[in-house]
Amino acid sequence: MDFIRDIDVVVIGGGVTGTAILRELSKYALKCMLIEKEPDLALGTTKANSAIIHSGFDAPFGTQKALTNVRGNRLYHELQNQLGLDIKWLGSLVVAVNDEEMLTLKDLLVRGIKNGVKNLELLDRAATLAKEPNLKQDIKGSLWAPTAGVCWPFGIALAFARCAVQNGAEVLTNCAAKKILTKDDTIVGVETSLGNIKAKYIINAAGLAADKIAAMAGDTSFTIHPRKGEYILFDKTASPSLVNGIVFPTPTKQSKGILICTTVHGNTFIGPNAHDQEDVEDKSTTSVGMDEIIASSQKLIDKVPLGAAITEFSGLRAVSNTGDFIIREGTVKGLIHAAGIQSPGLSAAPAIAEEVVELIAEFEPEWSLKRNFKAIVTRRKVFSELKIEEQSKLCNENKLYGRIVCRCETVTEGEIVDAIHETCGARTLDGVKRRTRAGMGRCQGGFCGPKVTQILARELNIPLTEVLKEGSASKMFFEKKLPGEDTK
Ligand SMILES: Cc1cc2nc3c(=O)[nH]c(=O)nc-3n(C[C@H](O)[C@H](O)[C@H](O)COP(=O)(O)OP(=O)(O)OC[C@H]3O[C@@H](n4cnc5c(N)ncnc54)[C@H](O)[C@@H]3O)c2cc1C
Repeated sequence: MDFIRDIDVVVIGGGVTGTAILRELSKYALKCMLIEKEPDLALGTTKANSAIIHSGFDAPFGTQKALTNVRGNRLYHELQNQLGLDIKWLGSLVVAVNDEEMLTLKDLLVRGIKNGVKNLELLDRAATLAKEPNLKQDIKGSLWAPTAGVCWPFGIALAFARCAVQNGAEVLTNCAAKKILTKDDTIVGVETSLGNIKAKYIINAAGLAADKIAAMAGDTSFTIHPRKGEYILFDKTASPSLVNGIVFPTPTKQSKGILICTTVHGNTFIGPNAHDQEDVEDKSTTSVGMDEIIASSQKLIDKVPLGAAITEFSGLRAVSNTGDFIIREGTVKGLIHAAGIQSPGLSAAPAIAEEVVELIAEFEPEWSLKRNFKAIVTRRKVFSELKIEEQSKLCNENKLYGRIVCRCETVTEGEIVDAIHETCGARTLDGVKRRTRAGMGRCQGGFCGPKVTQILARELNIPLTEVLKEGSASKMFFEKKLPGEDTK
């Protein structure tokens, strides 16, 4: 069999789980690689979620979810500065609207303390309203968790990947795992859309496809099904009339409930609901779903500013048949699963990564840690946040910083070009959007989209017709026709 590469560990899946694992692996003197089927990282569940780093009181004591959430939260407090992560530690409130819900909050407090969450506190009505004055005045009280935060999940996955790459790991996008290669029930490698890669270990961090990846190796020990959550995102101007931080209702058995939450960039959203479905691709939003989340948020707040809604979206949770995270060796030697990573998987990612890598390190006691692991990832400067003198200096050095492409978010052409050429750089319109915020404002790319498309074509040296919006099947133009040209 021909192999295009010979690697020690291949991680399948470029979401927050896979990238966190790649970074953890890159601390060792190993050849490690991440393969992602899409043109960019974090286009699966990591792209669309509530973006909360939970404190860890929600999951039952002793579960993988509880253990990795609490540890992950602590690790993010350490990683934030090293990796330049956008996280605001706003704290979260779970609000009770009646006496029965207050009893549930007491249970959550006890569970949280048992899980190891620090500084949880039950607040009465007045203390709750002091934190969130726009809540309904007749609420009963809340559970306050100061260690919770909001983050930018794409930025986190990208920073994990960049850290890994600067420590020698490789990231291959547009590279889909097609078949897991085994011999005598032991991993030999992976067949991908780019060719066969030889590997001793395969880490399955493929999100909604994790059961399919396992089955490629003959491992049918678990199943995954999607559970959709829908959202409405509001313009920044709506935020003052909503909430200051993270507001949950009292949870139900199926989900943490439909929340009202500030994003790390200052917008506000309501959502998500939770509905099981068959289709792993269907991320549509429905009017029934919108009505559900609006009605639910109106239980906590009087004036939901629907006129300021700028977009609706949904995400799919990868729910395992065990109900918990699956972090263990597969039925084939050398296959390790990080599967069923539903909520709080974003919060738990750095701890899941530690656990996966510790598992492999146990099998490979001779693998050694690098002495020169580079933990710090430097972040590109955001032009609009610079002082006027710094902006002038940049414009004098490179005139592209003097050209504003996205007027809503004040993003310059210089930043867009940098975002394309940096480590794990943007290859798509939405890749530029996520790295620079061009297209994230009120007009949602209506004005800057065509200009960004031109810049991508120029910088990547590809025709306009090859520029993708986001995923591998998202071509925006199919044929260039000039007036009078043959339509064939
Ligand atoms: C509605 C909703 C709200 C949530 N809110 C929160 C929250 O507030 N806080 C929190 O902690 N967690 C939250 N979560 C959970 C969190 O988003 C997930 O746990 C996390 O993003 C999972 O990341 P992942 O890397 O495991 O999966 P993904 O991000 O889905 O990554 C898997 C990757 O594998 C790739 N892949 C699949 N098949 C192949 C293949 N054959 N070859 C190569 N690559 C492949 C996919 O393209 C994808 O990029 C929420 C989830 C949802 C849906």
